[in-house]
Amino acid sequence: MSSGSGSAAFARRDGALCCEDVSLVEIAQRFGTPTYVYSRRAIERAYEAYANAITGRPALICYAMKANSNLAILNLLARQGSGFDIVSGGELARVLAAGGDPHRTVFSGVGKSEAEIEQALRADILCFNLESVPELQMIERVAARLGRRARVSVRVNPDVDPSTHPYISTGLKGNKFGVAYADTLPLYRRAAQMAHIEVVGIDCHIGSQITAIAPYVDAADRVLDLVDALGREGIHLLHIDFGGGLGIRYRDETPPDPATLIAAVLARVDARGHGRKTVMFEPGRSIVGNAGALLTRVNIVKHGEQKNFAIVDAAMNDLLRPALYGAWMDVQPVAQRTATPITVDVVGPVCESGDWLARERELAVEAGDLLAVLGAGAYGMAMASNYNSRPRAAEVLVDGSSMHCVRQRETVEELFAREAVLP
Ligand SMILES: *Cc1c(COP(=O)(O)O)cnc(C)c1O
Repeated sequence: MSSGSGSAAFARRDGALCCEDVSLVEIAQRFGTPTYVYSRRAIERAYEAYANAITGRPALICYAMKANSNLAILNLLARQGSGFDIVSGGELARVLAAGGDPHRTVFSGVGKSEAEIEQALRADILCFNLESVPELQMIERVAARLGRRARVSVRVNPDVDPSTHPYISTGLKGNKFGVAYADTLPLYRRAAQMAHIEVVGIDCHIGSQITAIAPYVDAADRVLDLVDALGREGIHLLHIDFGGGLGIRYRDETPPDPATLIAAVLARVDARGHGRKTVMFEPGRSIVGNAGALLTRVNIVKHGEQKNFAIVDAAMNDLLRPALYGAWMDVQPVAQRTATPITVDVVGPVCESGDWLARERELAVEAGDLLAVLGAGAYGMAMASNYNSRPRAAEVLVDGSSMHCVRQRETVEELFAREAVLP
């Protein structure tokens, strides 16, 4: 299995599924269900897989924190020297609260507001990844008002097909992301003229859950063409950011490991004479995806007319990926049973037919059993909602043989604490 997947984080011991040295049965007893469980070791190993691939050269790994923004996880990564890729002012506040370094933080996203730009300028972040002319103008305006210079990089849309799910491919012409390839040079020329803008880099991000190297190499070459063209005009960049998007194994995918991906990209950078520029990567899913599982309990086993359902206490509001993308996620019984498996759909209690976590799995399940949805560390809790007035799950971080609650389960009262009725 590819390194960086953190797959060793969850393994059976005497039949019981464990996270590192802690049994998931124990976690359920202590913290209840549904609960997200993360492995410190898996997160750190996944980060190291990136960090080790760039040692000895100017480089920065910026964890794309939208994948999982729990403060404890951000803090672990900050302690390892990771930078951060943020997409909102809220995420910047989390970086600061978690002890992350704003000077290692880049701000991505198509719709930054003036308030967010101001917040980021005051925090003196490393750079804004620009996505349009109006955004450039907005940043210039805010920077002028604050008497600062904003460092910017242009997010180029390299128009390569990453062959992934349409909702998570971002580098094609029809996407809302990035600046069209042909518009890039004019945008740089404009930026270079502005008094409160300092052009420092270029970046791209072509999609998510990418399992091949070729699209990255193609995108890298397209980006390097622009770096060369800019250099000929006297616009010299300090860094090149190749984005994130490396896939993980959910089922039978065989993504390259970070070292292989980075080596392929760096080979292009070096071959084209840009080896002294800082290279950056923005991994999200591949840092935390396989380091997390959603622990849930079977409430009811319902034998329907055509199908059997294991109705569990986690639902689409806790883990949206199956409902949103039709994603396949591995569901494992926490304790292995000897009973004959039946074919079941694992579904939640939410009033939507789209509320399912897994379909047509062979599982020996009974009411009261614990199940673990693996590969749930990325875009799991981060996308959770309160639909159906369901409090969001607890989050537990396992470190060897100890477990730490890193987010308490929400209470129902908290859900409507900010609401009011008419007088
Ligand atoms: C989401 C995102 C990432 C991370 O993508 P993953 O697939 O989780 O690695 C990186 N950069 C940008 C700009 C993003 O929007």
